[in-house]
Amino acid sequence: AVQANFYQVQLALASLSLPEAQGLTEPFLLCTRRTRLKKIGQKVMVGDRVIVEEPDWTGGRGAIAEVLPRHTELTRPPIANADQILLVFAVAEPDLDPQALSRFLVKAESTGLEVCLGLNKCDLVTPQQLQHWRERLSSWGYQPFFLSVYQGLEFILEHDNEIQKSSISDFTSTINHSLIDQLTDKITVICGPSGVGKSSLINLLIPDIDLRVGAVSGKLGRGRHTTRHVELFELPSKGLLADTPGFNQPLLDCEPQELADYFPEARQRLATGSCQFSDCSHRDEPNCIVRGDWERYSFYLDFLAEAIKRQEALQQQP
Ligand code: GDP
Ligand code: ZN
Repeated sequence: AVQANFYQVQLALASLSLPEAQGLTEPFLLCTRRTRLKKIGQKVMVGDRVIVEEPDWTGGRGAIAEVLPRHTELTRPPIANADQILLVFAVAEPDLDPQALSRFLVKAESTGLEVCLGLNKCDLVTPQQLQHWRERLSSWGYQPFFLSVYQGLEFILEHDNEIQKSSISDFTSTINHSLIDQLTDKITVICGPSGVGKSSLINLLIPDIDLRVGAVSGKLGRGRHTTRHVELFELPSKGLLADTPGFNQPLLDCEPQELADYFPEARQRLATGSCQFSDCSHRDEPNCIVRGDWERYSFYLDFLAEAIKRQEALQQQP
């Protein structure tokens, strides 16, 4: 976590086992950034792995001398080394809108990180509705986690229409492809619209923290955090979660040519062949392999029109 010009650096296991570290009450050092880093404009982001020099063990202070290479970097919100995005949506209250969900999915895919989907409030719908969403989302290329944070349960949908239930916060769970399994040992960025149960989920996964849970109807906006910086929360099962502001309409600010890559259905078609024109927009060009009768093709066209419009508006600016 970053506070003004100080960075809270969590010690790695190796440094924690040093005899000098035994006196620390918390496994953190409050660090400044070396002048050398400031001179070369090297920023420190949440999620960075850093080298600390000259630690003052009794005072719990140190100086960041080096930022190790990042394997991923998100700018909004600024997080280094994230492995995946967990997009949370609700199956009801509010009703699941396929186009709104797709907008978030496309935005998430555009980061290049792995995208996981959690569908919450499964307690509000019938097993038939859950099976419907499982099949439908599978045709989009996603295998969502079905959750009822309210009941603390994850619903595992079997292909024979059976539904198994297991505890979301059972860190000893041995079920493969459960949510906990997916989060373990990774840095996960949680996002989604407000009111779907993100805070409730984080509260459930990390019992020590207390994020305020809001009402769907209230004009909450953000408000539930007192601090504005991104924070990483440690899971009891190992792994880190980053919470992001809930927003309802992410802006599709990607290049129009890239858009098809953010739909798994189109990506799959492009992986097995190619369109006649290398700069095909997949609208009305001849011999296009992307255009077709897949469910979200109409969303692709809508988002493409939006991305083109946005690009034209940018080009008209002086
Ligand atoms: P956030 O804005 O995404 O962080 O959502 P919150 O965690 O604040 O939850 C929004 C509302 O949904 C609250 O009233 C919660 O009590 C409710 N909620 C959260 N999870 C569930 C769930 O699994 N089932 C039901 N029925 N309601 C839930
Ligand atoms: Zn095409």
